[in-house]
Amino acid sequence: MIKIRGHHLLCALTFAGRGYSRQFERDFKAITKRMRANEMMQIVDRPDEICQSVQDCDGSHCYEPRIDQRDQLALADISALLGHELKVGDEIAPAELFTEKMRTAFRDNQIRRGCFDCQWRDFCDQIAADGFQNTLLLAEK
Ligand code: SF4
Repeated sequence: MIKIRGHHLLCALTFAGRGYSRQFERDFKAITKRMRANEMMQIVDRPDEICQSVQDCDGSHCYEPRIDQRDQLALADISALLGHELKVGDEIAPAELFTEKMRTAFRDNQIRRGCFDCQWRDFCDQIAADGFQNTLLLAEK
């Protein structure tokens, strides 16, 4: 079971191998591999497996209230897209969530409220504009 916080459901969609550190990138790559194998995900309201290598670093934002807010906004937007509520504690399969419908909604800014104040915004905008072709979730499909 992959434990994942709300806004990381957006980040997983755009992850192309780049991140805060080499270890962060290795961890995230390993998690996207599990997602490609369709391992179930469970929504959590705290730092998750993706945060693992950076959550205790100086300047880490993992425990900040604004990041919790981003999780909540992401879950609200994704719930609206799915047509049913997705909340902390729920489980969902990657294949059910990471669909073309979600990529289109991301590209069209319909599910991006959880991205507010994120330093990677321009990078993710470009990933979406390029059709997500370099993202690891699509790497071996
Ligand atoms: S802009 Fe930031 S929060 Fe949004 S998907 Fe990209 S990395 Fe994640």
